[in-house]
Amino acid sequence: MQVTDLFSKFDPLIAIRKEMLSHGGRDPFAVVMEKVLSPTKAIIKGKPVILLGTYNYMGMTFDPDVIAAGEKALKEFGAGTTGSRVLNGTYQGHKACEEALKDYYGMEHAMVFSTGYQANLGMISTLAGKGEYVIIDADSHASIYDGCRLGNAEIIRFRHNSPEDLDRRLARLPKEAGKLVVLEGVYSMLGDIAPLAEMVAIAKKHDALILDDEAHGMGFFGKNGRGVFEELGLEGQIDFIVGTFSKSVGTVGGFCVSNHPQFEVLRLVCRPYVFTASLPPSVVATAEASIRKLQKANDKREHLWKNSRRLHGGLKEMGFKLGTETAQSAIIAVILPDQEQAVAMWQNLLELGLYVNLARPPATPAGMFLLRCSLCAEHSDDDVTEILAMFKKAGQATGVLAA
Ligand code: PMP
Repeated sequence: MQVTDLFSKFDPLIAIRKEMLSHGGRDPFAVVMEKVLSPTKAIIKGKPVILLGTYNYMGMTFDPDVIAAGEKALKEFGAGTTGSRVLNGTYQGHKACEEALKDYYGMEHAMVFSTGYQANLGMISTLAGKGEYVIIDADSHASIYDGCRLGNAEIIRFRHNSPEDLDRRLARLPKEAGKLVVLEGVYSMLGDIAPLAEMVAIAKKHDALILDDEAHGMGFFGKNGRGVFEELGLEGQIDFIVGTFSKSVGTVGGFCVSNHPQFEVLRLVCRPYVFTASLPPSVVATAEASIRKLQKANDKREHLWKNSRRLHGGLKEMGFKLGTETAQSAIIAVILPDQEQAVAMWQNLLELGLYVNLARPPATPAGMFLLRCSLCAEHSDDDVTEILAMFKKAGQATGVLAA
């Protein structure tokens, strides 16, 4: 009897990777940052590179106050908590970080998770159980899909950013059943934003609770940087806001804020909160310091938007195909026709001194190959000029643009 090789299912992927690297050049999924000089500059293979694929939107990773807060907590509270939030893993720093989130969002409750991935996993799998429904956008982030898998609810998908399809699908569900609609402010593959106002109105019409993942909206959308929902005037209308510390906040961690009166019970029943160690004291201290500063970061928000509009406009003018017609967020996705051109462009850009993210199916919608650019408030005007020049050079060298 021949026993199935557990790894045989990965053969197609191994073949794709071989093909990807067969023309030489660097492996897009094995980049090492040898030194990180600032939120926007690093050394890769001994050469200085501009970083344009970090989601470090507000450039908080090297903020002196943030670093000082982390150093102080590391010295005073040690390297880690070695425990769950519900046992020995809640320090005063975790509570202070939750207070900062409550102030930032103007909400009653905040729960800090060890990552944003776990925040979605925990909230979705815990809120909706057997006989209940989770309704998600087809292009939802992997953590939303995995949250659905972890729970016992029925999962319904609607067409990406289509209020009509959401309405149609909700109308088919039993009226009395509990329902959770999960939305994202910014969809991170193409950088497009959701028509949240229409979506929220429809979810409410069908008596569903609403969870909005603002991973890519926090920091720079809305007057207080709360996210796309704030920008669109939807405050007070969303039941749960999920977010991450790994983008605008500049460290690692996840959270959910809410005004739901029973919210605190989740600390006892949410498995990805209970059955894992809490964040190290230095991390929650950096997150708290960063969140407090982001509240007042209007100049940075403005500069980030200027950068995003300039890069989008410049790339569009050169003739690149982009994920959105106009700059909708700080993510600008350059769409390439196939893997070969995408990898060639990616490698060429890195040689010239620019790091972007390469994204390929199945992570991307509709089988697309993307070079995802995410701007930072710390990119200078000169950086953006240089970035545009590198795109032009790489585009011409690879034949993506006419020479
Ligand atoms: N939600 C969305 C929309 C994301 O893009 C991400 C991360 N890419 C997450 C959640 C998970 O965040 P974290 O990195 O904190 O796990």
